[in-house]
Amino acid sequence: MHELPKLEYSYDALEPFIDAKTMEIHHTKHHQAYVDKLNAALEAHSDLQSKTIEDLLKEINEVPEDIRQQVINHGGGHFNHAFFWNTLSKEGSKEPVDRIKEEIDNAFGSFDKFKEEFTKQASTLFGSGWTWLAADETGTNFHIHNHSRQENPLLHGHIPVIGLDVWEHAYYLKYQNRRPEYIEAFWNVVDWDRVNEHFKSLTK
Ligand code: MN
Repeated sequence: MHELPKLEYSYDALEPFIDAKTMEIHHTKHHQAYVDKLNAALEAHSDLQSKTIEDLLKEINEVPEDIRQQVINHGGGHFNHAFFWNTLSKEGSKEPVDRIKEEIDNAFGSFDKFKEEFTKQASTLFGSGWTWLAADETGTNFHIHNHSRQENPLLHGHIPVIGLDVWEHAYYLKYQNRRPEYIEAFWNVVDWDRVNEHFKSLTK
């Protein structure tokens, strides 16, 4: 059974950029619902219950068709939110480090140019979805890609580096319709040390 992961920080830890009420509802209601619905979908296929969420998504074509879309929706929702929480904090480096820095510079020219492009993509994503910085299967060739709903790079054989939730539930309480302000605030809570550690764990 999949479980809602505990946050490594308190709900108010990202204030004022992401408010405590949004964090609490996002984690205890939205993320929890994805976990519950994923578990419900897997009930009919107990052989899949021992697989990690990463493996379920990476090997999505091995998931039986009758639950494949549910695993994409709710398994994707579970993975994406767990991933998102893990890359955020107000501590840590506010600029890319180590290999992530090199790859971003290679792909975009500079961190500023990368931020500009990522911000543009996140601002223009239509409807609900996520903006991702991802690497290809070799861990290089960084690129930005918008995915609708809860789809993510793992489903396409790629490795996520950072992801930004641009569903309205991620920002509406504090920012209402002002998505660009939420995106701007996001850059203050990306912890590039955590991003680096997380990326290393996904690429080893
Ligand atoms: Mn969300």
